[in-house]
Amino acid sequence: MKFNQALESIKIYEAGKPIELVVREYGIDKDSIVKLASNENPFGCSPKVKEAVRAIIDNMSLYPDDSMVKLKSALSNKYGIKSNELIIGAGSDQVIEFAIHAKAHHGGKVLMNSVTFAMYEIYAKQVGAEIIRTASREHKMEEFYALYQEHKPTIVFLCTPNNPTGDGLLAQEMVDFIAKVDSDTLVIVDGAYMEYARFKNPDYAIEPKELIEKFDNVLFLGTFSKAYGLGGMRVGYGIAQSSIIEALYKVRPPFNITTLSLEAASVALEDETFVQECIADNFMQMDRYKGFAHAKGIDVIESYTNFVTLLLPEEKKSSKIAQELLKKGMIVRDLSSYGLNAIRVTIGTSVQNDRFFELIDTLV
Ligand SMILES: *Cc1c(COP(=O)(O)O)cnc(C)c1O
Repeated sequence: MKFNQALESIKIYEAGKPIELVVREYGIDKDSIVKLASNENPFGCSPKVKEAVRAIIDNMSLYPDDSMVKLKSALSNKYGIKSNELIIGAGSDQVIEFAIHAKAHHGGKVLMNSVTFAMYEIYAKQVGAEIIRTASREHKMEEFYALYQEHKPTIVFLCTPNNPTGDGLLAQEMVDFIAKVDSDTLVIVDGAYMEYARFKNPDYAIEPKELIEKFDNVLFLGTFSKAYGLGGMRVGYGIAQSSIIEALYKVRPPFNITTLSLEAASVALEDETFVQECIADNFMQMDRYKGFAHAKGIDVIESYTNFVTLLLPEEKKSSKIAQELLKKGMIVRDLSSYGLNAIRVTIGTSVQNDRFFELIDTLV
């Protein structure tokens, strides 16, 4: 059977291996598997969230509140924006999909960093758009601007801090770039790890409110999957001027967020203390990774997130190292498909990190 031709150049996205798969493939006991592959919060979510979800567990027969009043008002308060400047997605992934389907088109161009989140390309190719990439591993705004001028892209993606590298972009540099971009180009600022960047260095923190007050062509993305520890609930959001949000609503399916997920995300915002404690621990543990890399003479990219990217020496193939770790029940992300001889490791709990150091020590 022939399918939409646009699909031919798409490689199926390979998410971090689930624990269940490693149990089946390697016969390893479920409890001894450590997953440091998808940048989840190792402490999970606030206990208040679990309580709240348990309390509404009997409400599963009715469709969810499609106006999402509770979550929207909590997010509006958090960011100081209006409800009509917000859209909620099943993960920010879904908001990326909405934005591309609403704005990109066959023959249009989508500009992104050389190494960045894989879903931008996948969604852009679905609509037949052409992908333009910078050359540098980091987001360099001069390069983005030169390519912008040359190609006049429909959409520009800026991922800060960037996944899978962990490096961040100075907020001022980003704003200076956007100021030079024509208002018909949609600039999507993916802030999936913004909570971590804000904690580490305020110069790297993007304020969505300021951004959308200044610019009518910017969409900021946030998620509950990382710092808020709700990856399994699939909730993300987009913040933009209402004219952009309205366009995104036209491609949104109804009831895209479940009742339990809406409740979980709303209550998660009531316990910022929990999140900040997790982030503080994250950066303490990250110092151990830096120390390890330094002792081993391995390069590590300065990270503004909850993961570290270890750039391995040429003779140690990252695919091989990741495979060896997997056999021992340690799941990390091999970055060879991104053109990097590197592994990306999510910062775990102190015990999980101990295990990582123990296993990797003999391999590098
Ligand atoms: C994890 C991630 C997302 C999407 O996460 P969701 O779970 O879909 O909200 C988006 N962008 C980047 C850069 C990410 O790392």
